[in-house]
Amino acid sequence: MINLNERAKELYDDSLGNLSNEQLYTVLLRTVKEILGAQPLNDGKKKLYYVSAEFLLGNLLDSNLINLGIKDEVADQLAACGQSLEAVEAIEQEPSLGNGGLGRLAACFMDSIAALGLNGDGVGLNYHFGLFKQYFKDNQQYARPDVWLDGETWLRPTKTKYMVQFGDFSVQSTLYEIDVPGFQQGTRNRIRLFDIDTVDESLVAEDGIAFDKTAIEKNLTLFLYPDDSDHNGRLLRLYQQYFMVSNAAQLMIAEAIARGSNLYDLADYVVVQINDTHPTMIIPELIRLLTAEHGLPFDEAVDITSRIVAFTNHTILAEALEKWPLDDIRTVSPAIVMIIEQLAERVHAQYDDPKVAIIDETNTVHMAHLAIHYGFSINGVSALHTDILKRSELKAFYRYYPEKFNNKTNGITFRRWLMSANPALTNYLNRWIGTEWQETSDLTALAAYQEDDKALIEIFGIKQQAKQRLAAHLEETKGIRIDPTSIIDVQVKRMHEYKRQQMLALYIIKKYLMIKSGERPERPITIIFGGKAAPAYTLAQDIIHLLLALSELIANDPEVSPYLQVVFVENYNVTEAEYLIPAADISEQISLASKEASGTGNMKFMLNGALTICTFDGANIEMADQVGHDNIYTFGESSETVERLYHSSGYHSETYYARETIKPLVDFIVSDELLAYGSPERLERLYHDIKSHDYFMALLDLESYIAIKERVYADYEDRHTWDRKSLLNIAHAGYFSSDRAIREYNQDIWHLKG
Ligand SMILES: *Cc1c(COP(=O)(O)O)cnc(C)c1O
Repeated sequence: MINLNERAKELYDDSLGNLSNEQLYTVLLRTVKEILGAQPLNDGKKKLYYVSAEFLLGNLLDSNLINLGIKDEVADQLAACGQSLEAVEAIEQEPSLGNGGLGRLAACFMDSIAALGLNGDGVGLNYHFGLFKQYFKDNQQYARPDVWLDGETWLRPTKTKYMVQFGDFSVQSTLYEIDVPGFQQGTRNRIRLFDIDTVDESLVAEDGIAFDKTAIEKNLTLFLYPDDSDHNGRLLRLYQQYFMVSNAAQLMIAEAIARGSNLYDLADYVVVQINDTHPTMIIPELIRLLTAEHGLPFDEAVDITSRIVAFTNHTILAEALEKWPLDDIRTVSPAIVMIIEQLAERVHAQYDDPKVAIIDETNTVHMAHLAIHYGFSINGVSALHTDILKRSELKAFYRYYPEKFNNKTNGITFRRWLMSANPALTNYLNRWIGTEWQETSDLTALAAYQEDDKALIEIFGIKQQAKQRLAAHLEETKGIRIDPTSIIDVQVKRMHEYKRQQMLALYIIKKYLMIKSGERPERPITIIFGGKAAPAYTLAQDIIHLLLALSELIANDPEVSPYLQVVFVENYNVTEAEYLIPAADISEQISLASKEASGTGNMKFMLNGALTICTFDGANIEMADQVGHDNIYTFGESSETVERLYHSSGYHSETYYARETIKPLVDFIVSDELLAYGSPERLERLYHDIKSHDYFMALLDLESYIAIKERVYADYEDRHTWDRKSLLNIAHAGYFSSDRAIREYNQDIWHLKG
């Protein structure tokens, strides 16, 4: 069916075997794009719009080949003339359209929505430089633009354009699309990304990510989450949000009309899922368009909109709950402010309760409040998280609208995180339990082989292979050498105090001191980090600095380096994750209980047979329930205890610091040994913070963390038991498929026809 040789002739007037990997990539990109574009779109009267500030897609060639069912055919044609699909795939540059878990969730969801044949598109923005590209110098993080639009990409330009009116000027948008094929469906959906033609990439300084924040026509879609430490940066984020939702609203209204809606029945044609609060202004924007542009009465427009919009909450961290000064919104869109004021007035008249006010006494708009009052569904992303929303963070809302609250535990797409990232494990599963799991995500049949030595030895072999592949990748791309026979212990995720990378740093110090005093581990340990720190988040940068300084100190100490290595992988992204996760023996999920809404990294590691060290937080709890508490390593205080400590101001890090087990570890941060590799300013700031402040309570759980880590490393030496636990983790990961999550969203919220 596909003839790559023919395409090579057409494009390069040469045979496949003579092309460079770059040329081969172009051949494959164009061929697959054509096949994709020829597939019919999913249809149906009602359509979902999943609106998200981020889509952290990762590379698309391999997953598109898998979803189209043509990967083997393409690999064979390349192999037949001495070429390698894997080598061609290594050319691809991943889109920089997301940051972390929230954006990756949107990407997994798009894959599952298509796999289930549901009529649903993603809507977002086409950022030119993403968040930033991270690099290290002098043990510190630096940022440069993450350029991804220079060559040919998966984006397809369209002729769709809308006008978006800001306060005193307007811009014209252009719509780009990325096709999302449904696994074994023969149909596709799209991710619809809006941009403006007047973006000026030369606005960005050569040596960083600074730019003129006031030139909206030139900077609107340069970066995801532009620095908001000054007012112009915050305004720019608001311009982006309004631009995104105005385009989304215009698009869905136009498409609904094209499918036959008279707009009074819009809720039969459209459902909108907003991924966190960034797209909340879609509520007033829909009302504005329905009234001002389409002539519906205000009450009717409010009622229709309230039956269309559903909201996913992703965090209870105060800093991440968006609040915008009404005056800033007025600058961006005066028309929207008039509507928000009317909506707030209605809420005020009905519930005279400041806890649920949309506009507070300081004239600040609480975006989550707007979304809950004027949406029909609010969901958390794990059982614990939804529980916390109901009983504490959004208690007042739960009292008024119990029927709107629901849980949708996150999931991950097995097409990417198993079939694409771990072909050896995929093949193993096909051989041991058949291929039905590719449809159902049900892997439980594997548990029958938990005492089968052959099955266990193969699990071990697959892990070893992945570790060797990771070692080769790190050496080739970063010049870092790791020992593939060591225990690979991984914490990769955005840098944040609540995720407690600093707690693992303190454990590393503990291990370093143990080794120095002659207590050597059975087997070398490689601890790997990856993750970006927001440029304005000083303490997160300090934690990176501590880890890089520790890494260098240990590497330079011949007494310690044979037993312990610390690696920080630059610019952690989906591609790096796909190398790291299959290779991990240990998955670190050590957030302060109650703070990680769900996590999805945790699920990827479980699916790939890593054993998890975790707190009772987010989806970790459901992972323990699925796999059995004997097959996962839990430690630390419960979310109830942590919440109680916050409410009573009962946590004092000094008390923990004073313990003789803890003090030397914290003090080591400012020791002469470490200062030889680090900046006194950064290390002292971090030291003082942990000692006297420690808002996310790293010291609270440090002792139990040290204890569990020693147990895990010792357990690794019991081959049979470890491999058995690894097998059981894989066998019980099925619940965490995003196909399951999307089925639930559709049954409970969207009601689309499959
Ligand atoms: C899955 C994923 C995340 C989310 O990881 P958490 O551990 O859940 O925070 C972040 N970044 C990338 C690249 C991912 O693939």
